[in-house]
Amino acid sequence: MLKTFFEENNIKYLENESLKKHTTFKVGGEAKFIALPSDCEQAVALLSFLKANDIKYYILGKGSNVIFRDEGFDGVIVKTANLQKIEYIDDETVYAGAGVQLSTLCKNLQEHSLKGLEFCYGIPGNVGGGLFMNAGAYGGEICSAVCEVEYIDENCEVKKIGVQDCDFSYRHSVFQGKDWFILGCKFKLTKGDSGQILSFMEDIMQRRVSKQPLDKPSAGSSFKRPVGYFAAALIEECGLKGCSIGGAQVSEKHSGFIINKGDATCADIVALAEHVEKVVLEKTGVTIEKEMIIV
Ligand SMILES: Cc1cc2nc3c(=O)[nH]c(=O)nc-3n(C[C@H](O)[C@H](O)[C@H](O)COP(=O)(O)OP(=O)(O)OC[C@H]3O[C@@H](n4cnc5c(N)ncnc54)[C@H](O)[C@@H]3O)c2cc1C
Repeated sequence: MLKTFFEENNIKYLENESLKKHTTFKVGGEAKFIALPSDCEQAVALLSFLKANDIKYYILGKGSNVIFRDEGFDGVIVKTANLQKIEYIDDETVYAGAGVQLSTLCKNLQEHSLKGLEFCYGIPGNVGGGLFMNAGAYGGEICSAVCEVEYIDENCEVKKIGVQDCDFSYRHSVFQGKDWFILGCKFKLTKGDSGQILSFMEDIMQRRVSKQPLDKPSAGSSFKRPVGYFAAALIEECGLKGCSIGGAQVSEKHSGFIINKGDATCADIVALAEHVEKVVLEKTGVTIEKEMIIV
């Protein structure tokens, strides 16, 4: 039934696909199907069909903040990778599709001498995942450049929501907990000097390379920043740097990152994250909370 639907609607799909290939942590079992709509019409048709037929689905961006369980996902992963539109509406306003990688968007904006999102350079997610998480780095958050987000609501209608209604805060947005599919976003930037924007982007990329274990699979910082503390410092203070369970390890290079040493399972990562949370609470009295999403 599903294959016939994908084929009749020209929607690209993968069957019995390892989810390791679709997340930066490189763990997880197989997805029954991964569907890749390439425009708004395909996404609306797909979501309408899945809902009408009561088929389980999960929306996936670049998979840089998600890990899937080892038993896999017995449903349809709706992956945004083919929503790749970048359109300049005026000199300072740009629409970017949910599947555009943040670094690609930053580079594109820099080439147009536009600033406002350059701090996102190096965050390995897409626009959709970035908005969902209100991704941020080096003092900036994606919400600061959002003008309006286009999404498909729970009734499969295409809607727009202004930044004031997106309820953005630290790693939080209105999209969390809603049954909405982000299609893309209109960003408002300001004119800048393309050389200066480029130097800033190169500088923060250098800082990432020197401080983060980018040679090992991970989901970036595994824990949110607790108010008034730094998760990495608390973890280090508790003697957990380098601590391992199976193939998962608290990075020796950056204690805020749990890494996959090569053969980690999702269960190893979850067990290690929970161990870290427990020890940090016992030893420091501070609650740290996972930033990565376990599906
Ligand atoms: C090495 C490394 C460094 C990182 N550095 C940073 C950093 O500096 N700052 C930071 O904030 N994060 C960082 N991250 C985490 C991650 O890149 C961000 O959270 C990013 O915003 C996730 O985007 P994504 O496209 O990968 O989303 P995914 O991981 O695919 O999804 C995240 C959530 O968003 C939902 N989602 C995705 N797309 C849509 C959509 N179109 N509509 C509705 N829901 C959607 C998913 O269902 C999921 O719940 C890092 C990760 C890694 C691996």
